[in-house]
Amino acid sequence: MPDASPPLPRPDALTEAFWDACRRRELVVSCCADCGHLFLPPGPCCPRCWSPGVAPRPVSGEGRVYSFCVYRRSYHPAFPAPYVVALVQLAEGPRMISNVVGCAPEAVHVDMPVRVRFDAVGEFSLPRFEPLGAGGGGS
Ligand SMILES: [Zn+2]
Repeated sequence: MPDASPPLPRPDALTEAFWDACRRRELVVSCCADCGHLFLPPGPCCPRCWSPGVAPRPVSGEGRVYSFCVYRRSYHPAFPAPYVVALVQLAEGPRMISNVVGCAPEAVHVDMPVRVRFDAVGEFSLPRFEPLGAGGGGS
């Protein structure tokens, strides 16, 4: 029988702060201390000005669906189809790949307002997005 446990993040020196923040139910992006650029994924320096002075900074967790696709075939037992993989543009600017959950895949559309939620999976808290105004809960 195939292993139905999902593949989990492997935090390293660059991404540990991101995953630690998720455990606190807080979404953070990398912020450049020199030019103020906000970016994801975390990296060793600012992709705009190459400054090494980057640090995590909390963001609202709200954004809009920039692009998405609906997977109608399951490629892993932990991810039963259908499910949505989306590129979410955060209100503060950076884009991140995640899932849109909490609604039918057919309801997802480009420019849809979404808000992050955190789902406990193993020792991690995974950031996923749900329609803004739908359900809510938490903060
Ligand atoms: Zn910079």
